[in-house]
Amino acid sequence: MGAQDFKYLNKFRVMYLVDVAVPAPLPQTFTYCFDREVPVGVRVVVPFGGQQLIGVALGVGKPSDGKFEIKEIRSVVDETPVYSRILIDLALWMSAYYMHPLGEVLRAMLPASSARRVRNTYTLSAKGKRLRDNPCSPEGALLALLFKKVDSLSEVVIKARLKKQKDAVPFRTLVAKRWLTKASEKTQRAREIEQAPQGANEGDWSLGTSPDLTLRQRQVLATIQSDGLRSPQSRVFLLHGVTGSGKTEIYLNLIASLLRTDANQQALVLVPEISLTPQMTRVFEQRFPSLVAVVHSAMGDMERWAQLERIRRGEARILIGPRSAVFGPFKCLRLLIVDEEHDASYKQSTGLMYNGRDIAVVRGKMEGATVVLGSATPSMESYHNAITGRYTLLELPERANSRPLPSVELLEISPQKRHGQVVHSSVTHKTEPVAQEISDESDELLLAPAVVDALRDNLARQHQSIVLVNRRGYAYYLFSLQEKKAIECPYCSISMTLHARSTILRCHYCDHRVTLAQVVAGRERETFVAVGYGSQRAEDLLQRKVPGARIARLDSDVVIDREALPQTLAQFRAGQIDLLVGTQMLAKGHDFPNVTLIAILEIDQALNLPDFRSGERTFQLVVQAAGRAGRADLPGRVLIQTQRASHPVIAAAIGQDYRSFAGRELEFRRRHLYPPFSRMIAIELSSLDGEEIAQMTRKIENWLEELARIRPKLLAKVRVLGPAVPPIERVRGRYRRSLVFSAEQIDGMRQVVTMFVQAFARLPGDVRLRVDVDPQSLI
Ligand code: ADP
Ligand code: ZN
Repeated sequence: MGAQDFKYLNKFRVMYLVDVAVPAPLPQTFTYCFDREVPVGVRVVVPFGGQQLIGVALGVGKPSDGKFEIKEIRSVVDETPVYSRILIDLALWMSAYYMHPLGEVLRAMLPASSARRVRNTYTLSAKGKRLRDNPCSPEGALLALLFKKVDSLSEVVIKARLKKQKDAVPFRTLVAKRWLTKASEKTQRAREIEQAPQGANEGDWSLGTSPDLTLRQRQVLATIQSDGLRSPQSRVFLLHGVTGSGKTEIYLNLIASLLRTDANQQALVLVPEISLTPQMTRVFEQRFPSLVAVVHSAMGDMERWAQLERIRRGEARILIGPRSAVFGPFKCLRLLIVDEEHDASYKQSTGLMYNGRDIAVVRGKMEGATVVLGSATPSMESYHNAITGRYTLLELPERANSRPLPSVELLEISPQKRHGQVVHSSVTHKTEPVAQEISDESDELLLAPAVVDALRDNLARQHQSIVLVNRRGYAYYLFSLQEKKAIECPYCSISMTLHARSTILRCHYCDHRVTLAQVVAGRERETFVAVGYGSQRAEDLLQRKVPGARIARLDSDVVIDREALPQTLAQFRAGQIDLLVGTQMLAKGHDFPNVTLIAILEIDQALNLPDFRSGERTFQLVVQAAGRAGRADLPGRVLIQTQRASHPVIAAAIGQDYRSFAGRELEFRRRHLYPPFSRMIAIELSSLDGEEIAQMTRKIENWLEELARIRPKLLAKVRVLGPAVPPIERVRGRYRRSLVFSAEQIDGMRQVVTMFVQAFARLPGDVRLRVDVDPQSLI
């Protein structure tokens, strides 16, 4: 690079100028100096605004114009670059596309190795084990609860379990009494490896060897091989295959052919939420022993770093992980697979708001690699790209084992104004009739008799069932009859959800908690009604309605306990649970051969969300949920409770007819100029001060008017919505305003948004501004 030409004399020492991207909210890079050349892609510690920050060396820095003193790099972190040329190019592309500072993009690409947190693990001591195995004493009973089947657990899990126990001793007491001893992270990993691949119940998976592919599978595979893998150009394939059509088998065969071709080539497999589908990872590990590296969000940074190192050194040839795995340090990436490409979890929702699927396509192009996007319900964006020829559309219209898709039946439930259970009522109110508008909710309203019958029949046949509820918690909200208002979170403009049999209220946005007793204190004369239901109440109800069934619940409250998810899924797979009740996470990707019945208790809420994607999301939910039923030899059945049986999205979902749904949905998007027929950039402004945000809104309105006056052409092709109050105005105490730009072409719009961001670069007081390019949610 001829760095010698840019030597710099500092205090009579020859210094090299280095261009450094610093993780700060500023668009530009900065020049530092060092007494040696610093290779591109190496991390460096630099002084910045009184702090020490870890930046990334990008090449030769610009000589000083004399206005600023060039500071010296404190130290060099890496011996060899951690960012390859392609990763730096990708970062540059993302920085421009997502309008995010380069240094922050680069930092977001690596696991937080600079702040290496060690995940503490604790093991039962000999004393602890003796107590546990003799659980007559209260201490023993507690330890038996905490350490049911294992001898060691991470600190987080122990604390989460302790929290659930009433009057349990604090964590530090367990340690002080020497019942627990601290173990190293290595032990933890060893234990995870030990636990993971077992699961005696995995017999249904064609582990190790590939089944004979169907004719359709062979055709799809041949096309991707000839037009993709064997072609020097990057190509994107959209693999639309119904649930159970054997898409995973295609991925496995593609990777197998890649490994056969060349000893260096590597593949990336992105999956939406890896912890939900441990079986997916397992199949890859069985098929390609010792060649798979896995990263997931529950991993400590050290562990994640170690897995990525195996990819960097070329030891591992396949990286499986969630969206951030798209930044993996591959030596020779030839194939990128994005499973369930429609899944909203590919979109990062804080900080650098990138979409892992879109980055896979961009990176694929940079690497000249093949990209395969797979889904039973492709996103409208990808499907549109496929039918307009930008991607190659490949279809697997039938299940691999030629089983039919399950039948989907609707059960109409009558719209009820409001219904709930009285959870607090003073004596005087008890004698009065509880207000007419709120009747004591009957079980039938939650669970249609036909659903109960079907669940009982399925139990009698020893088949398994899944019941989907759209919300975690016990009841939806707590309503005061006198005030005619739901109890809201003090920090968010949203009602709080009831948990723990309506004894605790929690905010699902900021997790603020209060007890029912605290709410009632001072308001004893009012009557409070718990309205609606969540997964916890559904579990209670099912216990009563389906006697004899072994029932377990899975939702994000349960999953906080990291061991709970794999444990429950393994038990379900092993047939130790008859009925699994939970939220949407159960609709995704699982393959349980003995599940023949899925009940979706309420679909309407998804459909009613004020977002143009609500139809798409509802369709996906139904089809994906249906995909969990009847995958093996047994036929499947899906029951959906709805108040809107005639809604076209629901109608299309019953038929599980993607093509007709997509046709209508694209027409709707075209008519209203929604993506994929336009591009969107959403801006969110927020402040703790409501007055400040109101002033900011007026300034923005003025700025937009001014722009329309002086640059009418610029705004002619850009639509601006807002600044408006979003459906949930306040979150975590911050008042919000949203501003949505949309246009057919992103370039003109980007110019407007750049001007906007520059005009408001200095935000008053506590105001924060967030730019979301290609937003996935507008709520
Ligand atoms: P998808 O990912 O499309 O939902 P999977 O790849 O999980 O589908 O396949 C569904 C089931 O069909 C799996 O149990 C898989 O082992 C099986 N399967 C896939 N391809 C074949 C095949 N060619 N012959 C027999 N079984 C197959
Ligand atoms: Zn809140």
